[in-house]
Amino acid sequence: MEMSPEEMQKKKEMVLSMCVCAKCPSWVECGEKGGYCFPTIGKSSCITEEKGCICGGCPVTEKLGLTHGYYCTRGSEKEQLGM
Ligand code: SF4
Ligand code: SF4
Repeated sequence: MEMSPEEMQKKKEMVLSMCVCAKCPSWVECGEKGGYCFPTIGKSSCITEEKGCICGGCPVTEKLGLTHGYYCTRGSEKEQLGM
């Protein structure tokens, strides 16, 4: 079942509030807020070098059952699943 826009927005805010990307070695400061795993956010427009990914230790990975990483360079979980 598709989520309503309001539910998506709430979920996005939840993801952004828990995101640990800013502590990651690959992080590049350019005004973004992280949350790259989320489908309506996706890839970063400034992170291009993969220098390590700490998504595995992020509470969002467990909460949403994520299976990938490097969402900033490779795209959201959905995108990497080919959806
Ligand atoms: S899983 Fe990664 S991209 Fe997603 S919120 Fe956590 S640290 Fe950010
Ligand atoms: S998605 Fe992974 S690699 Fe990219 S900034 Fe977040 S923790 Fe680092």
